[in-house]
Amino acid sequence: MAQMPGGALVLFSGGQDSTTCLGWALERYDRVETIGFDYGQRHHIEMECRLDVLASIRARFPQWAGRLGDDVVVPVEAIGTLSNTALTREVEMKMGEDGLPNTFVPGRNLIFLSFAAAYAYRRGLKHIVTGVCETDYSGYPDCRDDTIKAMQVALNLGLERRFVVETPLMWIDKAQTFAMARELGGEAFLTLVREETHSCYKGDRTGQFDWGRGCGACPACQLRADGWRRFVAEGL
Ligand code: ZN
Repeated sequence: MAQMPGGALVLFSGGQDSTTCLGWALERYDRVETIGFDYGQRHHIEMECRLDVLASIRARFPQWAGRLGDDVVVPVEAIGTLSNTALTREVEMKMGEDGLPNTFVPGRNLIFLSFAAAYAYRRGLKHIVTGVCETDYSGYPDCRDDTIKAMQVALNLGLERRFVVETPLMWIDKAQTFAMARELGGEAFLTLVREETHSCYKGDRTGQFDWGRGCGACPACQLRADGWRRFVAEGL
């Protein structure tokens, strides 16, 4: 595939979705940079995984390595102060009466996209890539397609730019996300996504499963396990 100019900034957490989005961007754009957010996660394992994934891409995917540029981590601890959720405090994760898990950080993606756009502006990058998804979105209203489109308009007005916010996973589920990883980078990239990315809310990487590492019981592990099962069963 010929690479599009203008460059891309990928919101990259080291999870299955954002790693697949990173492969997607590396196939498409001449220059790809990554941005992560450290909001005082209870478990810092995500921040370690994202560095491991970047190192693996540089070492094992020569077709992409030359296009993979700088990585930045933005500290956003203020989100922990505002949210009081299971991801940032030692409380048990459960579903609230509004149908949202108590891990919900209100408007988190809007905050991340604002920071990403400010950084993309400075770095001269046109495309902002995020792994948000309506299909598996667990009710998070800031993952909806309409939210992201409205955000693109607001950012372009407010920053006087022509950013394009890309959401390659918006309409696909976890099984199809595994299939997309293989399509982008073959079995090697699928293996990287499976073995090196992190989803588990509990920060557990001790359990080893055919879908990757985790506790195997939390909602994030269950979603990933179910996606893998369907990916295999449906022969995607
Ligand atoms: Zn888990």
